[in-house]
Amino acid sequence: MKRYCYYCDEDVEYTVREEEISDNIRGIEINFIGQIAYCNKCGNEIYIPELDDENIKKANAEYRKKAGIITTEEIENILTTYDISAKTLAKLLGWGEATIERYLKGITPLKLYSDELKKLQNPVYMKKLYESNKDCLGNQVRKKIEAALEKICSKKTVSVFDVAKYFLSKADVKEGSILTPLKLQKLIYYAQGWHLAFFGKPLFVTPLEAWVHGPVSPEIWYKYQNYDYLAKEDFDPSKVFDIEQIQLLNEIYNIYGMFDAWVLRDMTHKDKPWREARRGYEENEPSSEVIPQESIRKYFENLKETLDIRDFKDIRKSLMIYRDILGIS
Ligand SMILES: [Zn+2]
Repeated sequence: MKRYCYYCDEDVEYTVREEEISDNIRGIEINFIGQIAYCNKCGNEIYIPELDDENIKKANAEYRKKAGIITTEEIENILTTYDISAKTLAKLLGWGEATIERYLKGITPLKLYSDELKKLQNPVYMKKLYESNKDCLGNQVRKKIEAALEKICSKKTVSVFDVAKYFLSKADVKEGSILTPLKLQKLIYYAQGWHLAFFGKPLFVTPLEAWVHGPVSPEIWYKYQNYDYLAKEDFDPSKVFDIEQIQLLNEIYNIYGMFDAWVLRDMTHKDKPWREARRGYEENEPSSEVIPQESIRKYFENLKETLDIRDFKDIRKSLMIYRDILGIS
């Protein structure tokens, strides 16, 4: 197929080459591999709308990545997760009807709008948004969204003993991943905190108490207190947890499990829920004050939001709040 060349002023044969293209979108420098057509006769660049569209799409995708703007895939994910159409979501957000459809076509949202959409990746926010604006939706639509939310938010709570068993199934003295009773407590605490932040529901319902060495689940403590370190236990988590919970627990183990029990103890001492529950107590004074679940939820939810933690792997970002303890700059 021939295309018009401006320089030759006629339709010509052409060659498409892949080249690195630099561009500047909203003040951000971007580079990407795009396709450019050259006239076979004079060698000059010729304009082909389809290629140009593709290049613009790539440039925008690159810009989104660099600017931390939500991707079209992520927006599509939100729609599928909550069983909602682009139009309905726009309505819930109080935006122009076609706004989200435009984003799906590749138009880049402003950071402000992108951040708003990103928040909805957390079902807790989606639920809040839905509850406050559902009056603008029809019955059928509401039923669908409610069913989707119910499915996502119906994380079952499990026994704290099963949480302990999960971590024990990971422990292996031979591999050097030693689990002490103290360390186990800290893993349980972080698992509860991040489960609350991601799902708005507790992983287990029994309370954690603000002991001298950090948050403690008393029943777990009394079960394992006489061991110096804990031996590996066989345990099939899929019988107790759902897939997301297993992924979360696995990530908690990967992120926090690498630290020594006493480092973890110092880390939990920095966290507000423990400090607040210890108010009025001397440093070494025993206490069995319950750390309110609400206080743990708020603390981890706030961490999640301020550090823009979007998936379980991002939890690692929160280690920066302990940088003085961990000796990182
Ligand atoms: Zn030409």
